[in-house]
Amino acid sequence: MPAVDMHIHTVHCGHAAADMTVENIVRRAEQVGLQQIAIAEHVWIYNHLSKLDPLVREFDRIEPSIKVYLGVEVDVDPCYTDGRLSEPIPSKFRPLVVSTHAFPDSLLMWYEDIRVSKRTRRRLLNNWFAWVTAAVRRNDADVLAHPGVLISREGPEVRFEGEILDRFAEFFAVMRDHGVAFELNEHVKRKFLSPEQRDSYYNLPALAVELGVKLSIGSDSHKLEQVGDFDWISNIAQQAGVKPSDFSIYDGPGLVKTPNC
Ligand SMILES: [Zn+2]
Ligand SMILES: [Zn+2]
Repeated sequence: MPAVDMHIHTVHCGHAAADMTVENIVRRAEQVGLQQIAIAEHVWIYNHLSKLDPLVREFDRIEPSIKVYLGVEVDVDPCYTDGRLSEPIPSKFRPLVVSTHAFPDSLLMWYEDIRVSKRTRRRLLNNWFAWVTAAVRRNDADVLAHPGVLISREGPEVRFEGEILDRFAEFFAVMRDHGVAFELNEHVKRKFLSPEQRDSYYNLPALAVELGVKLSIGSDSHKLEQVGDFDWISNIAQQAGVKPSDFSIYDGPGLVKTPNC
């Protein structure tokens, strides 16, 4: 896998370790041999982009010996079904990592136990696919964060095999056409409800690359020791039969620091 980590959080998100400063993250990334990283801080529905101002100032001060981007992880706005983002993101924040942490039209968050009827669960699932498809069509996203995690909350019986792969196939075709990468996200291993979900997850990236979707890599670190830790996703990539040419790591414009500049 490429030596990059394109999804790292900082102390500014409010739920990461206190030592997750940009400076510390960069030092850690250099130590573990990464060549490129992206800070991708949360922009939720309830926090304003201006909360990232201190992060921008911190970013301005670093002098890295690797390439460092300042991107965001922005949620699709769950109050609307049209795929708009929680907040429009200025084009300087790249990569644009688009994410879903709540079900559309329900505000059911990913960590909540969904004690609803089977029918409602079906509806949530259908809504999710329609919603993220709209989000991919509508926004200039570079990466879709942790695909499949939110719908795993539909219940432990959801496995990434069989019928659900047909739904993903349609969605991945839209991602491919819009140049949105599928994120191999290390944090996902902590989020599934059942071992079956974890064990069948490799089917998603396998299907994505088969359909021509490129892969991005992110630890989704909230602690320093997680930066560049790709234990689980290395395995997933192997199981999925991923090739080096299946990765496409963001290297476009944006707030970026390169060595000696
Ligand atoms: Zn977070
Ligand atoms: Zn994240």
